[in-house]
Amino acid sequence: MHVFDKNIDICHLLSEAVSEGIIVVNKDQLIVSINKKAAHLFKYTHRELLGKPLSELIPEKYKVAHEGHFIKYFSNVKKAKMAGGRCVQGLRKTGEEFPLNVKFNPFSIYQNTYILVLVNDLSERMEIEKNLDIKSEALDATQNGIVISDALEEDYPIIYVNKAFSRLTGYSKSEALNRNCRFLQNDDNDQRGIKIMHNAIRSGKKCQVQVRNYKKDGTLFWNEISINPVRNHEGKITHFVGIQNDISKRVKAEEEIRHFLKIFDDSLNEIYVFDAKTLRFSHVNYGAKKNTGYTLRELRKISFKEIISGITEDRLQEILDPIYRNNQKKITFETLFKRKDGTTYPVEVHLQSSGLGGSVLIVAIALDISERKNYTQKLEKTVAQRTQELKEALLKEKELNELKTKFLSMVSHEFKTPLSAILTSATLVGKYCDSDQQGKRKKHLDSISKGVHHLTGILNDFLSIERLEQGKEIYRLADFSLSKIVNQVVYNANMLLKTGQKINYPMNIEDEIVYQDEKIIALVLTNLLHNAIKYSPEDTEIDIEINFDEDMLSLSVIDRGIGIPKKDQKHIFERYFRADNVLITQGTGIGLNIVKFHVENLGGNINFKSIENKGSTFTVTLPIKNDIE
Ligand code: ADP
Repeated sequence: MHVFDKNIDICHLLSEAVSEGIIVVNKDQLIVSINKKAAHLFKYTHRELLGKPLSELIPEKYKVAHEGHFIKYFSNVKKAKMAGGRCVQGLRKTGEEFPLNVKFNPFSIYQNTYILVLVNDLSERMEIEKNLDIKSEALDATQNGIVISDALEEDYPIIYVNKAFSRLTGYSKSEALNRNCRFLQNDDNDQRGIKIMHNAIRSGKKCQVQVRNYKKDGTLFWNEISINPVRNHEGKITHFVGIQNDISKRVKAEEEIRHFLKIFDDSLNEIYVFDAKTLRFSHVNYGAKKNTGYTLRELRKISFKEIISGITEDRLQEILDPIYRNNQKKITFETLFKRKDGTTYPVEVHLQSSGLGGSVLIVAIALDISERKNYTQKLEKTVAQRTQELKEALLKEKELNELKTKFLSMVSHEFKTPLSAILTSATLVGKYCDSDQQGKRKKHLDSISKGVHHLTGILNDFLSIERLEQGKEIYRLADFSLSKIVNQVVYNANMLLKTGQKINYPMNIEDEIVYQDEKIIALVLTNLLHNAIKYSPEDTEIDIEINFDEDMLSLSVIDRGIGIPKKDQKHIFERYFRADNVLITQGTGIGLNIVKFHVENLGGNINFKSIENKGSTFTVTLPIKNDIE
């Protein structure tokens, strides 16, 4: 006893700090120390028990057995370590018996051996377990898996599972008991639900979580677990009751719904859900928000009417009417939707009614048909363009036919006159047989040769047209003396001059060298000069003027002839065109057309001034040094 007195303060402090009851007995089983907790457990005061035999705390019927145990334990005390965890009955001062758990721990101080007895009241737990037994029948009948864990034992072993638990998990009662619940997680423990559950258990709170668990055969199932801590009258948690519910089907259904919602939301088509009566939006998807520029919150403040721009309110009512009267489930129409920024776009809208808990909703799926509209517009434009092209082609074809007719009449006319002249001359040549008729023969032979030349000239014009059209014309550029060409052309033209006609041409161009196609320049000048002669009366003068302006050369042929009627002037370069005032004069209407073609190909241009019955001036402008190569 004195040992304890010496150390009373430390001992007291320690023993009062622990939660268990502590009784220290000596070898005579006399209580040498007891903490308040233990004294309280047995309903004694602390002092009342000091020095009392331990047997005072043991019911009569167990005393003998206890004595035997104690003596045996004490004789072996040197070998004995902490022993116990035994359930025994205790005796309170009031005479009441109660279950308790005892653990023995021998120790020696100053050659004296003592036994420290740790006592824990089991009455409450026993009561719960008794209750559990009673309730387990009922619990077994429930559909939910029920697990009860001992919160007072290390790692909270399972002390009860019901039948539904075994059905749910595939683990039998014996396979589940005495294990921590976590075996249901396999290694899949990095889950939000599990963390929540741990935190709740740690802080002694209720929780409900959904976690992935695994059946005995490895199948995954979604377990909705409610954890409820059970407290004793002191507020200490003694058990955790877990209620389990296999919600795999529900989770799957929810996943499917979430998937459908995602499809709904992700769809690039615009989907609007609105109330059939008020037309106010209740839901819209991403496509709708994106295309209209509104947020869902903004759309919820407005109605379907307000995003429609293409039709009147009355017309909208008319469209919706069959849905209201329930005789048409689905309606399709085209309109314009108005964006938040006021711009519009064409849409094809499919409306469908859908009942939801008593209220009627309308689902509108809108397809942006801008592309389609653009395509139609483009198509219409293309059709119009093609029609125009066809019209033009038809006109050209008509013009071509007219040209052909003109050509044929021109050819027959142009060939007929020289041919009949040739025929007449040939017939007459045959008649002039006498030697003194040589002069007459020569005159007719000349006329034949002139006629043939004329026809050859016409044919050459045709051939050059053919060449030009086929792009076969090759220009041969070279330096040549302009005066040489002018002299040559004038010389040849002299033969055609009518009585009294005279050609004036410049004499001061001897040194002028041009880099052009010599033959073509000669052809151009010849054509213009021949026309001037042809379309001017006798006794008139024809001037050729040549001017140089920097790098350009201009070549004019001026006559005082019949001129070109004003109304015909715009057609003068058209092929086969001949003015009204020249129809009795021979010609094909090809010359000027060819001249213009060549002049432009050589980098120049041609124009004219003409007054009827006064005369014409044709001017050709060409580069002195051609660089078309
Ligand atoms: P052609 O002289 O063979 O008819 P052109 O093509 O050379 O063909 O001329 C086309 C038309 O232009 C002529 O038919 C004529 O009506 C008019 N023309 C050309 N040059 C003159 C001119 N110097 N004076 C009056 N009319 C002219």
